[in-house]
Amino acid sequence: MQNRSRDHARAGRATAPETTCPRPPKLQHGERVEAAYARTALLRQADAERSGRDGAIGGFRGRRRQYKLAGTTGPAADAEAPAGSAMKEAALPGPSRRDLGRMAVAAGAGLAAGPWLRAFAIARAEAKVVIVGGGAGGATVAHALKAGAPDLDVTLIEANPIYSSCFLSNLYLGGIRPLESLNHSYAGLHRLNVWVVHDFAIDVDPIRRIVRTRGGRTYNYDRLVLSPGIDIKYDSIPGYSREAARVMPHAYTTEAASKRLLKRQLQQMRDGGIVAMAMPREPYRCPPAPYERACMIAHYLKARKPRSKLILLDPKRAFAKQDLFIEAFAKYYKGIVELNLSDEMDDFGIASLNPGTKEIITHAGRKVRADVANIIPQQRAGEIAAKAGCTEGDWCPVHPQSFLSRKMSDIHVLGDAAIADDMPKSAFSAHSQAKAVVADILAALTKVERVEARFRNVCWSLLAPDDAVKMAADYAPHAGRLEASTAFVSQTGEPADVRRQNAQDNAAWYTAITSDMFAKAANGGQLLGGSGGDRGEPPKADPPQPDPSKPDPFQSNH
Ligand SMILES: Cc1cc2nc3c(=O)[nH]c(=O)nc-3n(C[C@H](O)[C@H](O)[C@H](O)COP(=O)(O)OP(=O)(O)OC[C@H]3O[C@@H](n4cnc5c(N)ncnc54)[C@H](O)[C@@H]3O)c2cc1C
Repeated sequence: MQNRSRDHARAGRATAPETTCPRPPKLQHGERVEAAYARTALLRQADAERSGRDGAIGGFRGRRRQYKLAGTTGPAADAEAPAGSAMKEAALPGPSRRDLGRMAVAAGAGLAAGPWLRAFAIARAEAKVVIVGGGAGGATVAHALKAGAPDLDVTLIEANPIYSSCFLSNLYLGGIRPLESLNHSYAGLHRLNVWVVHDFAIDVDPIRRIVRTRGGRTYNYDRLVLSPGIDIKYDSIPGYSREAARVMPHAYTTEAASKRLLKRQLQQMRDGGIVAMAMPREPYRCPPAPYERACMIAHYLKARKPRSKLILLDPKRAFAKQDLFIEAFAKYYKGIVELNLSDEMDDFGIASLNPGTKEIITHAGRKVRADVANIIPQQRAGEIAAKAGCTEGDWCPVHPQSFLSRKMSDIHVLGDAAIADDMPKSAFSAHSQAKAVVADILAALTKVERVEARFRNVCWSLLAPDDAVKMAADYAPHAGRLEASTAFVSQTGEPADVRRQNAQDNAAWYTAITSDMFAKAANGGQLLGGSGGDRGEPPKADPPQPDPSKPDPFQSNH
């Protein structure tokens, strides 16, 4: 609750009452009120049209609304709606579609409306979108919704006041970027009047359309967007646990402490030490990331502790951009990296590990006594997705056009938590999916024409300073799933200038995507931590940059 008050004070807004849902900012000007009335009517009409044609999920919602409008009972109508919720107010006798059209015109012209219209209009003017998770997917949705419909009531529930990106965090381990350069605040989204709430969402009631938080607050929604990223499945590796992760870090979530711990352990390790990495099984967040990490750790070892070894224990037989990484291991890190891929004879998945001794034993019987162990276990959708009833197994099935859940109405799931078929779990993907989610929400809540969703992903991987490779593809819904259409992968043996350009493009992309995610233009261009090594004009408030003239860049970044 304190956080909430502080958030609002920071954003220069009135403090919301502590025990109720946040209220949207008061509509001050006559024109805005009229516009809200008009939008209200159109929104309702669009929703009705949508529910008539959008398969099981839209159909359910449409039927529920019908119960309400007809004043009859039904499963949703029986549920007690919280005071002031859109559901409760939707129980008013409803106008016909033709009436709605007239209402929209009348409201737009500023004419007086009947009392039932006013009540209805107010309910819809307060149409609420709640987003859980302010990372690559969720923050982008918040920004794009406000860009498309500034008056929409958008609440972003995010556990942490600072987002510490996983993407490019391998470069921190390699001594190429400071950790602070991966940090981003929510000030830009605050400025756009997104209600940013730093709290942890613990439950969703999809019938009453309410999100509950650990802080004891509840938030009603008309549309809920879940982009909670991943949770680590600690029990997927025998002997691993939350406690073990304090000794053998995964460094695979937005938690900055885990990345810092891994880096500190590398710094404190003797020259000649053994670093072990346990690679994950598919599906997991960012398929090439563990191998980029191997390059970055090897780069550090080569520069600082050249007698050391990096042993990769992989339960898979193959991995993303394999030829490119194997070429890099041979070219840059010969004698340092030892890759153990599984095959029909040997399984290098972890059979057991001991956090006390840092001993790891694989199914193939390989024993490694590590000085530093980076364990990357299996993963699943962030817990809130399961609480909302959106998971099937570990992940969330979605409609490929809109990323609406296939299991629950009015809930979108995007980013790593979603099953996006051919599309990999990446920040680029989440950002691309966010635009489709926003298009769907705006089409449902306004008269905006629905556009065909098109998706793209580009994944760069840094093999060594100034040597990056990439993999890119476009995706489109086809026969109920997202399929890759055009694709590009870097080739082995490419000239150095191509690779250098890739590295620069990667850094430029990072600046661009994080600026868009966190609405940095609305934040006066202030970057929290900024963007190390990017092309072009550095932002004014840029943070400490890696200094190549420093004798020990590794020791300076922690
Ligand atoms: C080492 C590494 C390197 C990577 N490199 C790249 C790369 O180069 N390019 C790329 O495109 N991708 C990369 N990725 C992948 C990328 O980080 C993820 O795919 C992306 O962040 C997914 O976005 P998301 O919105 O699903 O989740 P996240 O960005 O993880 O955001 C989830 C947010 O939800 C919050 N949250 C979760 N549950 C709750 C809750 N119940 N209540 C409130 N808040 C909650 C979390 O605090 C978090 O801020 C990399 C990943 C790793 C681990």
